[in-house]
Amino acid sequence: MFSTAIKFRLKNELGIDVTHCSSMIALKKALRQDPGRFALAVLDLNLPDAPNCEALDHVISLGIAPLVFTGSFNEGTRDAVMAKQVIDYVVKDNPSSIQQLIVAVDRILTIGITNVLVVDSDPDSLALEAGLMMRQNFRVTCAGDGASALDILDRAGDVDIVVTDLDLSDMDGLRLLGEIRKLHGDESVRVIGLSSGADRMLAARFLRAGGDDYLQKPFLAEEFNSRVFQVAAIQKRVQALQRIAARDYLTDLYNRRFFFEAGSRLVDQAIRRGEPSCIAILDIDHFKRLNDTYGHEVGDAVLKAISTRLRTRLGARHLLARLGGEEFAILFYGLDLDAALDHCEGLRADLAGEPIDADGEPVTVTVSIGLASIASRESFDNYLNAADQFLYMAKHAGRNRVFSELSLMNALAG
Ligand code: GH3
Ligand code: MG
Ligand code: MG
Repeated sequence: MFSTAIKFRLKNELGIDVTHCSSMIALKKALRQDPGRFALAVLDLNLPDAPNCEALDHVISLGIAPLVFTGSFNEGTRDAVMAKQVIDYVVKDNPSSIQQLIVAVDRILTIGITNVLVVDSDPDSLALEAGLMMRQNFRVTCAGDGASALDILDRAGDVDIVVTDLDLSDMDGLRLLGEIRKLHGDESVRVIGLSSGADRMLAARFLRAGGDDYLQKPFLAEEFNSRVFQVAAIQKRVQALQRIAARDYLTDLYNRRFFFEAGSRLVDQAIRRGEPSCIAILDIDHFKRLNDTYGHEVGDAVLKAISTRLRTRLGARHLLARLGGEEFAILFYGLDLDAALDHCEGLRADLAGEPIDADGEPVTVTVSIGLASIASRESFDNYLNAADQFLYMAKHAGRNRVFSELSLMNALAG
């Protein structure tokens, strides 16, 4: 009855394809061909023809992650199960255990896209913590000290959670937390602290400084897993809200707010690494006239079509946003003025050269672009103002053109 209920709920609530085996013989048969098609094994410790965890050992030997449920449970069984590569266990001792099992399966199958950076200067602790997280399906990267942790965060750019010991060989956890917050903001990374020290104030200071959770070492695997999962769940929700808040409703490009936030971070990063970058503002020419001629709806369709074309041509490396109205901004990351100019010229020529299909209506639209290179550390507003000045000159010079400091120099030379 228990397995029928589980199968039904996994299928209906999570949309999971379930194969049910009621004995060791059935299990072996199901796994004979292509065990790789199973993402997870949910199994009872004791089967009628396998009373001593043989089923568990079998799935582990085939590299399938096991989630155990069991009726009989004591400290001894717990230690034996946790010593194997078990992801988690659920005890069948109360009415909510099926619910617990469903939640655990859902969590394990969806958590794979959470990236965790584990930082510990003690190699044994590092291996233990990383091992626990890998078993839970997290994507794990390791660092042995604070400096390499910061380096990985900077280069990878997609770390969701940092789990760090507070006593690292090159810096303490509070300093690492401070650097992370300074470089990556308060929202993009969650930080969990671990410590084997006796100083209780350390935990308090870490949490007050903005740490997301704290665990005293040595910890139980169950406690570690639960806390990390909770932090991961919060992070997923925050990220979902951030994605919504970062987008422009009409074009689905990034919006002005996000451009300022992410743009300043990217510029800082480029300057830190000694890489060039440029900012362009792109404005549609005579858009008011287009609206007046064809109507606002066609105007909207043109904005959407132009956004799609810009996005396709630019790819993911550069940051593209709609600043508002018919004005767009691009942060060219890692490009010097010459290279960025080529890109802008390409965008301009592409738009001018081929009419846009605005709800079946072919409309030729041109754009003017102001492009400024970023040479020194200034406020983000300043970079945009510089680009805006060049945009103004491009408009003044007759529209459908790109203007930058190079155009100024050429004009002066000519
Ligand atoms: P210029 O070449 O100097 O840039 O002239 P322009 O007409 O493009 O510039 P102006 O700033 O005078 O007008 C911009 C127009 O863009 C005015 C407004 O009606 C239109 N606009 C702004 N936002 C939207 C929008 O979301 N949808 C549509 N259809 N039109 C918009
Ligand atoms: Mg305009
Ligand atoms: Mg404008």
